[in-house]
Amino acid sequence: MKRREFICVLGSIASGSWPRRRTIIAAMAAMVLLPIEVSDAGWLSDLFKGSSKQAKSAKQAKSPRHVASRKPATSAKPAASPKRRNVKLAALGPVALPPAALKPVAAACDPSKFRIVLDVGHTAESEGAISARNVTEFVFNLRLAKRIEEKLKAEGFAETRLLLTEGKARRSLFKRVAAANNLQADLFLSIHHDSVPNKFLEDWEFEGKKSHFSDRFSGYSVFVSRNNPDFKTSLSFAELIGKEMKAQGLDYAKQYSQPIMGRHQRPLLNKETGVYRYDELIVLRKTQMPAVLLEAGSIINRDEELMMNSPERREIISSSVTAAVKEFCEPRWAMLGPL
Ligand SMILES: [Zn+2]
Repeated sequence: MKRREFICVLGSIASGSWPRRRTIIAAMAAMVLLPIEVSDAGWLSDLFKGSSKQAKSAKQAKSPRHVASRKPATSAKPAASPKRRNVKLAALGPVALPPAALKPVAAACDPSKFRIVLDVGHTAESEGAISARNVTEFVFNLRLAKRIEEKLKAEGFAETRLLLTEGKARRSLFKRVAAANNLQADLFLSIHHDSVPNKFLEDWEFEGKKSHFSDRFSGYSVFVSRNNPDFKTSLSFAELIGKEMKAQGLDYAKQYSQPIMGRHQRPLLNKETGVYRYDELIVLRKTQMPAVLLEAGSIINRDEELMMNSPERREIISSSVTAAVKEFCEPRWAMLGPL
């Protein structure tokens, strides 16, 4: 995206109706777990009360009673193991549930069948942000997404799909959503690199060419939309990515929670992992599967751009994402103990 449209994800916004989808028992179960780390965030009370505009529009903002709703013992989609994980984890939460509600609802995730779509942010025609050294975001996105794809496939996630889209920015958003939905993906991850609002840009020259930079902010960030039909599972995956990135020593971009960002300010859902809410993003709210958008790092920050351009950093990030997918897919029963 051109400089004037700084945040590369802005192109992912559009109006439209929220897609209806089945109620998922694990959705609320995940919420039961999450307050452990996000209880300070205002969003949670909104979800439980269902009183805010967002809560009214977000059909997934279920009240706790939905956790105990009846659910078939088996799922029509075996790959939906994260739901089982969430249900299992709900046993740790404070809500009293009948034992039947805590039983797994799906078979264990089979990595060979689990289909994650890696969406390469932007297109060759509409390239996203421009780095401090005049490299397009699309180039960064494609390189990183390819490395993640390699890693996932090496770990047995053979159904991983790299999603490259053509055309103009806005139209491409609907194309990529349609592609992911047609692929019946189990998980959707959109890969991006970050920039800043124009007001933060400063001038400099790189290799004799007038360029722009801002060293003020840095870090990754993870976005989810409460309008995704499976917001809770999306959030679970986002939390795992943030947790793994943090474990690698990476810091998240804190500016999105600050008023200085103006209309680009976002609710920070977890101040430890750097997960933000961004309800309007098309690729997150129109996809029919859990969906997350990762801003892997800033390419307008001169130092961070150099790091993001390095194989070492791509290795760290792709390893983090792969670890998050594995954890998402493979519940850690041993840590949880018997039901
Ligand atoms: Zn972008």
